[in-house]
Amino acid sequence: MAELLWPHWPKLESRMKKRGVMLFLDYDGTLTPIVRHPSLARLSPPRRKFLEMLTQVDDIKTAIISGRSLAELKQLIRVKGILYVGNHGLEFEDPQLHFIHPKAQTAQALLKQVAQKLTQALEDFPEVWVEDKTLTLSIHYRKLNESKAIFVRKIFSNILQPYLRISKLALTEGKKVWEVRPPTPWNKGRMVLWLLARFQAHLPKKVFPIYAGDDRTDEDAFRALKGKGITLKVAEHRSESTEASYYVRSPSEVFLFLRKLKALKEKEREVLLHGSS
Ligand SMILES: [Mg+2]
Repeated sequence: MAELLWPHWPKLESRMKKRGVMLFLDYDGTLTPIVRHPSLARLSPPRRKFLEMLTQVDDIKTAIISGRSLAELKQLIRVKGILYVGNHGLEFEDPQLHFIHPKAQTAQALLKQVAQKLTQALEDFPEVWVEDKTLTLSIHYRKLNESKAIFVRKIFSNILQPYLRISKLALTEGKKVWEVRPPTPWNKGRMVLWLLARFQAHLPKKVFPIYAGDDRTDEDAFRALKGKGITLKVAEHRSESTEASYYVRSPSEVFLFLRKLKALKEKEREVLLHGSS
């Protein structure tokens, strides 16, 4: 069970000392509060400004890893120097490389067909929204009431089952959203480990990973980073079951944590350059 982060800060601060930090941040529900419609999840200007400043800190590398498409994520955040990871790790981009998972590449045409079928079959339910993110589909049902949800589940399952049965596609669930994805065990966790190794390869000192997220897909990353760094779940209460080691209660507390981290690394750099007074 995750513990509230703040009482542990002094201990964590010393663990991070003199280590390069690689920061993995989920977007929805982590950097922005959960809102009625995903299109309303905007990063506030002060928070964008802060992320910009964070990219200027020498010992911190920041990645944003989301279920949204890479293109949308970049457009929402618009901060240079951040490593963007979209579609739960199926695509990422930094100045050197644009990566798309090969299984995701090949599943694209089928996903498009399924998106069309679902959109058509669910057209009587305006509360449900089928979002085609090219490499995955998100079926959002946040506004659907329970009595209608039974019908929608049935329609959804009738269309999906034939593909799931022969492992042509896979299904995961998030907060009021179904995700239809290519049939690969690749997830946020595997992507995080891969990026960590990639980043580590350029650095002499051992990199300390930090991951913050609020949803089920983030649990793969919490699991992958067990015993390696700080895993931070954004959740209102302690009781929520999670693989993360710590929790904070809101996106505001995520930013508070990030500000403390930035101050810590800036202070270290200051001491290194000018010595302690
Ligand atoms: Mg999230």
